[in-house]
Amino acid sequence: MGIIGLRGATIFDSTGREPRRGDLWLRDDLIAEPPGGPADEVLDLDGHTVLPGFIDAHAHVGLLSLYGQASWSAAEQAGYVFRNLRESLDQGFTTLRDLGGIDGGVTQAIKAGLVEGPRMHPSGQILSQIGGHGDMRPTSSDEPANPDFGCGGLVRNHALCTGPDQVRAAVRQQFRRGAKQIKMFVTGGVLSEGDPLESPQFTVEEIRAAHDEARSHGSYVTAHAHTVTGLMRALEAGVRSFEHVSVIDDETASALKRSGAIVVPTLAVVESLTADPAAWGVPGHLLDDLDNLHTQQRRSLAMLDDLGVPLGSGADLIGIEQRTRARQIYLMAAEIGLAGAIESATRVNAELLRIADKVGTIEPGKVADLVVYEGDAAEDPEVIGTRPPKYVLQSGRIVRSP
Ligand SMILES: [Zn+2]
Repeated sequence: MGIIGLRGATIFDSTGREPRRGDLWLRDDLIAEPPGGPADEVLDLDGHTVLPGFIDAHAHVGLLSLYGQASWSAAEQAGYVFRNLRESLDQGFTTLRDLGGIDGGVTQAIKAGLVEGPRMHPSGQILSQIGGHGDMRPTSSDEPANPDFGCGGLVRNHALCTGPDQVRAAVRQQFRRGAKQIKMFVTGGVLSEGDPLESPQFTVEEIRAAHDEARSHGSYVTAHAHTVTGLMRALEAGVRSFEHVSVIDDETASALKRSGAIVVPTLAVVESLTADPAAWGVPGHLLDDLDNLHTQQRRSLAMLDDLGVPLGSGADLIGIEQRTRARQIYLMAAEIGLAGAIESATRVNAELLRIADKVGTIEPGKVADLVVYEGDAAEDPEVIGTRPPKYVLQSGRIVRSP
């Protein structure tokens, strides 16, 4: 790889510094101390913006269809998963935390160089209670488990469990298969029937069992929590990582702040589902719910930001065409400003994934994961999230170029 010089770009380094014009030197897979010696390759980036490689803290590259994935062949599913991975890189995402679906086999395929994709943090199966957000059985079915749509080593669907013992077993199973963290539904969701958004799911004891077991593996649980009661149960159980957090009150926001939790708002998925609900097969009667959620999410996000709760960033995209991942940054920027939205998707997400010693900021010694856009985002924030990047570098290697 040698030495690559990036000259004259506006640099958003995500350390809290103001964006500045300057040069960057990369030595092999790392960002080097300037001047870094003569370069093997120089990119003249006058009028461009350089940012740390983006991290999506809430991805589902293996959830390809809301309904009917069970009838797809493993080969088709693999094809779509691999394309979603490549697309993520093309959009500047050098790391993904997959929150349900993907398991360790995909990480292995990327590491072996068979497939191009971001650095992966898979969760394996999402833990759901019976009748909860992840119970995909038809109401007429008495099968003990969800209809299987996946295939081991690639994609798996949700794990249904009851009681602390089954929860522990499910957590151990995910780590055995290569999960890096555990995802758990502690409230209802939007696109599932029969479990209202307000419903708390799992007991404090069950959530605590998952939390303790994840800690034994040196990891953590992140809780899908749209509403207050389930969220407060998870906080009581020790969970400190939360997804969505869409409909909350002042008391819950303060409790999150006191606990030191990180919250990952997910705005892009709602935009993508409401833009073309028919394509997703979203039933008409759920559209009002989605609209309402959109408004509530923004209100909750503003409350959390005012209190200074650390905000990560997750697109939560599903489907076979995951091409709008960077919209999450664009939509967050409208709520908390561009610098905040960029830091959420880089430094804060890196802290959440516990890899902030390696990625998330542009500093000497960090891994050279970088995104380069044509245009100066310091003057025009619309540069980010409205067009594909010009270059993407992962570990010092140019993985996208014009
Ligand atoms: Zn999700």
